[in-house]
Amino acid sequence: MTIITRFAPSPTGRLHVGNIRTALHNFLLAKSAGGRFMLRIDDTDAERSQEEYVDAIRRDLGWLSLTSDAEERQSARLAFYEEAFEKLQQSNRVYRCYETSQELELRRKVLLGRGLPPIYDRAALSLTEADHAEKAAQGIAPHWRFLIDRDEPIAWEDGVRGPQKFEGDRLSDPVIRRADGSWLYMLPSAVDDIAMGITDVLRGEDHVSNTAVQLQMFTAMGAIPPRFAHEALLIGSEGKLSKRLGSLGVDAFREQGLEPMAINSLLARIGTSQPIVAETSLAVLAEGFDLSTFGRAPARFDDAELLRLNAQIVHAMDYAEVRGILPEGMDEAAWLAVRPNLEKVSEALEWWTVIAGEVAVPEMAEEDRAFLADAATVADELDWDGKEEGGAWKTLTGALKDRTGRKGKTLFMPLRLALTGMDHGPDMSVLLPLIGRERAVARLRSAV
Ligand code: GLU
Repeated sequence: MTIITRFAPSPTGRLHVGNIRTALHNFLLAKSAGGRFMLRIDDTDAERSQEEYVDAIRRDLGWLSLTSDAEERQSARLAFYEEAFEKLQQSNRVYRCYETSQELELRRKVLLGRGLPPIYDRAALSLTEADHAEKAAQGIAPHWRFLIDRDEPIAWEDGVRGPQKFEGDRLSDPVIRRADGSWLYMLPSAVDDIAMGITDVLRGEDHVSNTAVQLQMFTAMGAIPPRFAHEALLIGSEGKLSKRLGSLGVDAFREQGLEPMAINSLLARIGTSQPIVAETSLAVLAEGFDLSTFGRAPARFDDAELLRLNAQIVHAMDYAEVRGILPEGMDEAAWLAVRPNLEKVSEALEWWTVIAGEVAVPEMAEEDRAFLADAATVADELDWDGKEEGGAWKTLTGALKDRTGRKGKTLFMPLRLALTGMDHGPDMSVLLPLIGRERAVARLRSAV
């Protein structure tokens, strides 16, 4: 059987890192089995759903290469919900209610005050047809609840949490339809999961009790429920549910100059028992994807780890992949020279300036200035095109070592400082030929 998963965001805001992780896991779960990954836009809430967020969701998933095999929108499927609803009405699995949210809140408080679970008391079930007619005469429309079958055991084998069991009488009959006829999340989601042939629902553990209810909806609609798996939530590196993570999304990643695959690599593995490694393709991540390695403890999102993965990915990037975003004029040799020193591609600019731009040479110590004057002379006379190993740098430092007796750091550091304006950086034997005779000599002279 082909595995079919779905990511079902509500377009009421931008995707944050928690949503992205769910999308990624659904993508990987499908692809690990050669299956299909669907995008479902849960836009039944017409007031809060916005078209700009639908576009943003597609763009964000596109940036991460989490391409869906098909897309559905709930707002285009209202007729199917109506049809399912009518069937549930015929089988008495939905009922009309009139309580206001204030009334319900008050009842909840009373129950909680008595130490009882805040379950809806089903008062509306005892309304007579005359009661309903009276409400209608007053112009008051009902909202609708799904009737949980309290005799039917609710249990499933969760892909992450293992065996799960719920008592029906510990669950509130959920409101599925508002008085204005609009739909809440629960029923449309189950209707669509059936229609789209979803085999695996993978979502956050905040949905566990929804699953208990939706399982009964599947059965009530005569369908075999999909497999369910609920993953632990994401927390910040400080170990708490963090506000920051709630607003951290693709825009921020892009602004920080992070690579999509660094994010995918991190989010694929945090919270699992598998090692977190920088992978350069989703196919490789999919190959290793295994729900049984998911732990029940919250997954920790650590920025330092993300940066480490990003650096590893950058170190493996070919010139062809980056040429379009490198500074003007930066060629392959320069890219390969500076690549090992980058955490992000954007940092290439700094090193390209060191190679080909203006360098601010720091104030040098008195004794180094005489040494650098020597260095300028040697550099000027050097055979820059010499093919021997180590090239110009080896020849330059070899000659200076003989002339001055300097060695180690006292030999290399003043040269690096004068030539690059920095006390660290790429291997000088790679950098110096790129800086070239003219700039090198000028820099050494200006340091004197
Ligand atoms: N639209 C729902 C949400 O964003 C989907 C939940 C689900 O995956 O079923 O929470």
